[in-house]
Amino acid sequence: MTTIPARLRRTATTLADGRELIYFDDTEPWLSGETSRDAVDHRPLGARAAAGEMRLDALTGDWVAIAGHRLNRTFLPPADECPLCPTGRGTVPSEIPADDYDVVVFENRFPSFSALAGAPETSAEPLLAARPAHGRCEVVCFTSDHGAAFASLTPRRARTVIDAWADRTAELSAIDEVEQVFCFENRGQEIGVTLHHPHGQIYAYPYVAPRTRQLLAQARAHHERTGRLLGADILESERRDGSRVVLSGRHWTAYVPYAARWPVEVHLAPHRDVPDLAALEDEERDELAEVYLDLLRRLDRYYVDAAGDPIPLPYIAGWHQAPVREGRAVSRLHLQVMSVLRAPGKLKYLAGSESGVGGWVNDVPPEQVAARLREVGTP
Ligand SMILES: [Zn+2]
Repeated sequence: MTTIPARLRRTATTLADGRELIYFDDTEPWLSGETSRDAVDHRPLGARAAAGEMRLDALTGDWVAIAGHRLNRTFLPPADECPLCPTGRGTVPSEIPADDYDVVVFENRFPSFSALAGAPETSAEPLLAARPAHGRCEVVCFTSDHGAAFASLTPRRARTVIDAWADRTAELSAIDEVEQVFCFENRGQEIGVTLHHPHGQIYAYPYVAPRTRQLLAQARAHHERTGRLLGADILESERRDGSRVVLSGRHWTAYVPYAARWPVEVHLAPHRDVPDLAALEDEERDELAEVYLDLLRRLDRYYVDAAGDPIPLPYIAGWHQAPVREGRAVSRLHLQVMSVLRAPGKLKYLAGSESGVGGWVNDVPPEQVAARLREVGTP
């Protein structure tokens, strides 16, 4: 576990079915400990849901989690039954027993990966391999305000979320079965979000994910060839070229990647070589809070509707971190934000070429995306 900065109070507790919940408090009366986090979850939850199994796709070598129970998960509940609001605000007790919170993290009630995962029925066929889906899935609530968004957080609260991500990355990386920790946010119904309350997720996988394996292979090859870090060299190229740079601070630069795949895509990378969020220094975390908020607010001004009003951008934001046990010396942390919205009201579908063979076609020149993101910098 990381050392928790003095600006935060971290309190771990247990929900009615045994799942862990952790408060990350940055305001009074909890920060000083004047009021303790002793609210109890009284819901009759019954036994905790176990994760399912993972099956090996022998064609690609990729693991696929098969989790049938997730079909029963909460889907767009009415606002007065939000499971992520503090208990007492809605008509039913929520996942958070307290009547208010700053940032809270808890184990997903319907996990794809969990410490509780049954052994799959084994097949005698060697090409039909399966393993228990061991690992962990967590939910991160960015704020107790149901109507907010990450982009509307204060820098102080954004910094608390960053500290929570770093804490979870360090702690989940210490679990025996975990090979990779991925912190991400799905925002907007177009992305398939099932709850509107501002939140993200953390998946701790028992394998190195396919895209991460691909990034790692490229990084290793580059390192063997040049002795240098691929992530650092790409960042340097983008900064020298400048045409795709969106914003730059002392510690961070955001740019639209040269070969962007999505209609809107931005990468945010630290200037220093760090493998993961847990390795970020205090000053880097402070600036990240500012820079990330700036970036998200630009994204929310990227498109405007017919009346000229900005359209909140549906997006996926995910932190590419070094795997837990391999490739840490060549991997470099970066954030990828991407959107399927290619024009107001028009979605890009991952159709034949992309879904079939991974052959991406992007209709929007990355330089044009970067120019628009620079233009909407000052509202
Ligand atoms: Zn809510």
